[in-house]
Amino acid sequence: MRIALATALALGLATGVAAQSQPSAAPAITAIKAGRLIADPRTGTGAPALILVEAGRIKAVLPADSPIPAGATLVDLSTATVLPGLIDSHVHLTGDPDDKFWQATIDTTEYQSLVGAKNALLTAKAGFTTVRDLGSARLSAFALRDAINKGFVPGPRILAAGNAISIIGGHGDVTGFRPEVVAALSEGNTCTGPVQCAERVREMSRRGADVIKITATGGVLSQQARGLGAHFTPEEMTSIVDTARSLGLKVAAHAHGDDGIRAASAAGVASIEHGTYLTPETAKVMKANGTWMVPTLAALTGLSERIGKGIYTPVVEAKARQALELWGKQVQASRAAGVKIAYGTDAGVFEHGRNAEELALLVEKGGMTPRAALVSATTGAAELLGLSDEIGTIAPGKSADIIAVNGDPLGDPRALLKMRFVMAAGRTIPLD
Ligand SMILES: [Zn+2]
Repeated sequence: MRIALATALALGLATGVAAQSQPSAAPAITAIKAGRLIADPRTGTGAPALILVEAGRIKAVLPADSPIPAGATLVDLSTATVLPGLIDSHVHLTGDPDDKFWQATIDTTEYQSLVGAKNALLTAKAGFTTVRDLGSARLSAFALRDAINKGFVPGPRILAAGNAISIIGGHGDVTGFRPEVVAALSEGNTCTGPVQCAERVREMSRRGADVIKITATGGVLSQQARGLGAHFTPEEMTSIVDTARSLGLKVAAHAHGDDGIRAASAAGVASIEHGTYLTPETAKVMKANGTWMVPTLAALTGLSERIGKGIYTPVVEAKARQALELWGKQVQASRAAGVKIAYGTDAGVFEHGRNAEELALLVEKGGMTPRAALVSATTGAAELLGLSDEIGTIAPGKSADIIAVNGDPLGDPRALLKMRFVMAAGRTIPLD
């Protein structure tokens, strides 16, 4: 044993010396031939180009007939449309859609992180190279985020919220069990009053949150049956937003009811998630406050596929039927008022990997153009996430988040349902 250790140390030392004495090899370059490049979805027309990638970053975007650097790995996408990796501002990677509401009572955090690893790969394969994970149990999403960052498992860049902060008995609390079970399962994410709510924000920050998620109203899929109206007091929400801001964190507010949307926007949250019952008047308030809308229309695809099948409890079914009647209305109200829309799906409520289905929903139910829908999933979401310098367009210096599809996504949003190539932070994602 001692000999083996000594040998290993000697070998390691020898390797170190050898590496130092050799001239350092040129960093590997990947050259991507793009048949049609939409470098910036706000303006891109799909001209051919050559993209050079080095050390996980875009090194250059050149005319198509530029010489390919010697020794570069060539990726020939000359018959494809190449565009920036997509961004989903609202997912739940560590859960699956057909989990029963009590599933979290039997799954360990460790198991949920592994479920998340499975779903992270599915999400990346679907062309989504950045996601915001807006609610996971315990520390599962943080562990997943860190493992992806270190290259241990393939997946998208993750901004993770951890637990959503909720009122007692609210959408983010444990509900539907006997009190002693609730007490045992509670994850310390509820608060009452501005001081306690500030404490919760600081705790989530300490745990590793990149963003603060609050449940500003009731929710469709939780067992609480008190409707979808406002939950926190204005003072509590202002305290949450101010505390988050002091820590450099944005707040994403789950909100269905119009009163809760209005109160969250007034408190200064960065985004309203879902926004089901948004009225034209409140849309004007959002516009004035600069609040983003993340419509998550695809979540309702999930609801529509599961309703009436004994998957949801009666309490949940009643709320789901209400929400389905309004599918896409919040997008129309947001557009009419000039509210900015960032792409988000609520994947986890439906199967991970179907994230691109939201594009066609934004067009068909929300009245957006295919280009506007694509902008919401690239430069729009990048701006909401505070990552405009890093992602959202294909430009020198940015992270090498690059996807390719057949067809023209500016004409047909369904062209993005099947990827031909995905690179996340310079790593090529295996597609089969
Ligand atoms: Zn959600």
